[in-house]
Amino acid sequence: MFVLCAILVLMASDVWMRAVLHDDRTSMRCGEEAHALPVSFISLMCDAPPARQLVFTLSRSSAGPGDCISVYVEHANKPGQFSVTAPFYEKPITFFPYGDGYVGLVPIYAWLKPGDYPIRIKDLSMNTDLTLTVKVLPRTFDAQYLWVSESTAALRTDDNEAKDQAFFDAARSHPIQRKLWDGPFVRPAEGITTTSYNSMRYTNGNPVPTRHLAIDIGNAEGTPVTAANHGKVVLARKLILSGNSVVIDHGMGIFTSSFHLSELAVEEGKSVSKGDVVGRMGSTGYAAGPHLHFAVWKEGTFLDPGFFFTTDPVPFPQ
Ligand SMILES: [Zn+2]
Repeated sequence: MFVLCAILVLMASDVWMRAVLHDDRTSMRCGEEAHALPVSFISLMCDAPPARQLVFTLSRSSAGPGDCISVYVEHANKPGQFSVTAPFYEKPITFFPYGDGYVGLVPIYAWLKPGDYPIRIKDLSMNTDLTLTVKVLPRTFDAQYLWVSESTAALRTDDNEAKDQAFFDAARSHPIQRKLWDGPFVRPAEGITTTSYNSMRYTNGNPVPTRHLAIDIGNAEGTPVTAANHGKVVLARKLILSGNSVVIDHGMGIFTSSFHLSELAVEEGKSVSKGDVVGRMGSTGYAAGPHLHFAVWKEGTFLDPGFFFTTDPVPFPQ
């Protein structure tokens, strides 16, 4: 029989959940929720873990829609030693080499309902498993009513969207494996937030809204737009709907994009540091006026930039 062993480490505002799975000679059964275990029991069981045992750590035990949870598997030599699945996330979790093991990031969809969701972790070499519970918190989102000119509205066709998307797909097709960013991301332009993340947007009176999975920052044309963190420019060109656009690969599948720029200040293939100017605010493409449309992307999921402005999504020391 196997026993689970978990340590809870309290951080200032978030709870890191840390779990060690190991073979033991007691008759305890794996698969229970770490939350349900009394801390005294957990500490007792973790007195002397075997060397090189896998240690699983979640960056947080609760998150809001648009946030991201990272899973650090320490002491792993190869991804085949373990498995981590999150049934609420529809894709396999990609793991990248990090420190003494691997890190995977689990996006929380913007539309996920509040509640408890499982993350299942397995140490395949020890044949042990454990289910951790992540609490998705409620968050309110506003509605926005937007009017754009007929000529601008005419740009939004399936054909134009497909043409732009082909460039984004190519730019994101070979994610840099290592973490390039350092600490929380910075807001990429001065100005007020004119449209929030996950705002339900009604355009030109259309009763069917679209989700705005980015933030819009409004300011004067020509306002500098900077790199939100260190990374490599993988797209810097004029597209049909997003206008002059910059996409930066920050590593481990995290990308940021800046749209509607009046001018570009970087070239594809160049490395940029946090705060470097990459362009100027404008209204090129599908835009009603000068603003920056800024998005954070992880494997097809647009996440809340506000989360990244306050949080390093992979906070574990290397
Ligand atoms: Zn926008």
